[in-house]
Amino acid sequence: PQARQFFVGGNFKMNGSKESIQTIVKNLNSASLPSNVEVVIAPPAPYLFWASEHNKQSTVEISAQNCFDKASGAYTGEISAVSLKDLGIPWVILGHSERRTIFKETDELIASKTKFALDSGLKVILCIGETLEEKKAGKTLEVCKRQLKAVTDVVSDWTNIVIAYEPVWAIGTGLAATAEDAQEIHKDIREYLSTVIGSQSESVRILYGGSVSGKNAKDFKDKTDVDGFLVGGASLKPEFVDIIKSRE
Ligand code: PEP
Repeated sequence: PQARQFFVGGNFKMNGSKESIQTIVKNLNSASLPSNVEVVIAPPAPYLFWASEHNKQSTVEISAQNCFDKASGAYTGEISAVSLKDLGIPWVILGHSERRTIFKETDELIASKTKFALDSGLKVILCIGETLEEKKAGKTLEVCKRQLKAVTDVVSDWTNIVIAYEPVWAIGTGLAATAEDAQEIHKDIREYLSTVIGSQSESVRILYGGSVSGKNAKDFKDKTDVDGFLVGGASLKPEFVDIIKSRE
């Protein structure tokens, strides 16, 4: 199987100011980051260009947190994948649980956005994961498969997709999944993916997300199907660098 490059994403959510985002980016600029780790930071939309202008690290790229499935037109308040591409923003996060729950985004809309973003030349961090209720009902894999199937139905080339498995109960709660549990579900996700897209599934990165910190990141070190992290809260703090270096 092909080696998968370790990937660490930082989702700032709707946080930050010119000053604080500049501080985060400068902190990354001055850190000696491993050259073999792909790092992607996702500031809020108004700060995308600001972050991009300040970033001097060749291994750090910028991501939007959302975009729509149309290029342009009468969609007040939406973000076009084509505009992101035009601005030199290479990545977008799609299907984050906050988009799914607060903004009622369906599996189908997320799949459509994913297809449109890829067709527009963006790379996609596709988030999936079950809620606490679904976990309690033993539906973790079923939910992940359903969320993935919507995308495999419309996208056949997964080269530019990174999957982030983010159990909703672990996001922002301080209760991360154990490395063992993450490995198990990641393996199941990859197995499912292989039934749909074949051996391509071996090269798709599957990140874990949900209360990852500078402290617990190392616990996942020897988990072969955990190809990196999507980090929320800790990506705003200096410990983000420790997470990036957690495989050293
Ligand atoms: C996220 O929002 O993608 C996330 C994983 O958040 P946190 O790390 O704060 O749990």
